[in-house]
Amino acid sequence: MSQYLYHCQDCEKDFTQQHHISDIEKAEATCPHCGSKRVHQLVAAFSAVTSKKS
Ligand SMILES: [Zn+2]
Repeated sequence: MSQYLYHCQDCEKDFTQQHHISDIEKAEATCPHCGSKRVHQLVAAFSAVTSKKS
């Protein structure tokens, strides 16, 4: 489960939504404040990092 930060272009608020990694490509973020889908992703803050060990 990863948390993604979005910005709503309608109400100008930021919010986070959690998606499974496998769902992120088909996931549609919806603003919890106004219900708009005119949102864009700011950053992806991974809570579960797959660490690369060299
Ligand atoms: Zn909104």
